[in-house]
Amino acid sequence: MTKPTTDDHPHVAVLAFPFGTHAAPLLSITHHLAALSPSTHFSFFGTPSSNSFILSSNTNLPPNVKPYDVWDGTPDGYAYTGDVQEEMGLFISAAHESFRKGVDRAVEESGRRVSCLMSDAFFWFGKEMAEEIGGGVMWVPFWTAGPHALSSHLYTDFIRESFAGDVTQREDELLSSIPGMSRVRVCDLPEGVVFGRLDSLFSQMLHKMGQALPKADAVFINSFEELDPTFTNDLKSKLKCCLNIGPFNLISPPAQVPDTYGCIPWLDKQQLASVAYVSFGSATIPLPHELVALAEALEDRKVPFIWSLKDNAKVHLPDGFLETTKFQGIVIPWAPQAKVLGHKAVGVFITHCGWNSLLETIVGGVPVICRPFYGDQRLNARMIGDVWKIGVIVNGGVLAKEAMIDCFDKILLQEDGKQMRGRIKSLKDLALAATAYKGSSSDNMRELSRLVSSPCK
Ligand code: UDP
Repeated sequence: MTKPTTDDHPHVAVLAFPFGTHAAPLLSITHHLAALSPSTHFSFFGTPSSNSFILSSNTNLPPNVKPYDVWDGTPDGYAYTGDVQEEMGLFISAAHESFRKGVDRAVEESGRRVSCLMSDAFFWFGKEMAEEIGGGVMWVPFWTAGPHALSSHLYTDFIRESFAGDVTQREDELLSSIPGMSRVRVCDLPEGVVFGRLDSLFSQMLHKMGQALPKADAVFINSFEELDPTFTNDLKSKLKCCLNIGPFNLISPPAQVPDTYGCIPWLDKQQLASVAYVSFGSATIPLPHELVALAEALEDRKVPFIWSLKDNAKVHLPDGFLETTKFQGIVIPWAPQAKVLGHKAVGVFITHCGWNSLLETIVGGVPVICRPFYGDQRLNARMIGDVWKIGVIVNGGVLAKEAMIDCFDKILLQEDGKQMRGRIKSLKDLALAATAYKGSSSDNMRELSRLVSSPCK
């Protein structure tokens, strides 16, 4: 049991999900909240590998944030097959216990009773853990993706009842009865809602999360209320308190990613809205034939480009592509993406539709070509293509040369592209207004700070 202390200064235990782009945004928000409330102590828990990765680029944490490593769930002597699902499964199975032990340690060391659990929303056991600690500890989870993806998990039971049976026959049906989803199809949903392996640990985690979140004291999201008021209102009606605090990088700009490969000086020499920026996020690499198709389309249309592509994937580019396009574009292993998308020379973003990338492209005002892969990406792509109309979903779902040429022409040369740029500019203006001093996200951030920094009851 956590040893209670007499100290009633607030102590927030922050529980990070150590895979994908989850832990880094939670650490940034913790950093920001710690600066807003210097008398609140924040203990940040992650696995050793995740912590060492995110802390390497966050070297100036305030003194009231202390990171702790917790067990990653790997039994001694365990031989991994190299499958990330397996690593995730072991972590998820041990997470509740690992975090409890970490929290006990932090309480011992700090002499402060925990007053609030701020966790990744994936940790469905947050409420239970807060109750175990006792003393009215609040559970305040963070949903790292978009509001529509959150909605798909809150409505999972309803969706499963509505589409019981062989869902493969109904994958083009619209989810019209869910607020905000009238253009979303069953096949756009994340795996684990109604198709995919519903019995996998990951799917079960998301299902339990959807059931648990309405019990949380507040849920905060890296989005802004004005992006889609239908979702905003519906989430407010389903959750006790729903705080949109984004785009967070406008409220608290992250440490600059160094421009190691000279993207910005290169962009300075290009024409207005002419460049294609290509990135499929931190983890996804399209299949070799898709890389070839994209390379051929760029070359065919002579579109200037910056392509963020891991060195080990370059071998799949067509023979001679790097040489023949050396004055047309640059292929680099990592780009200062937010800065690139904010450059006036960038005219289109070819993306896997990860949520952080989408917020960054909205802030940059750049229309997108969507090639989603898994998780919330198809849903994000549908919102972009059919609801917000700020981009196109690649025809046929995979990168093919002719389809890519059509997309480039549409966005870079035709009236459609101009209209998309106009709509994305309107969203950008709404994002800027939300994060201005009196904007909705700034207000919500102050409310979040007030909530998590309340002393123990
Ligand atoms: N990113 C970057 N440089 C790159 C590729 C990606 O800085 O070359 C950043 C990007 O700005 C975003 C994050 O990596 O903040 C990717 O997050 P997202 O949610 O879009 O996708 P994920 O990596 O989680 O699939």
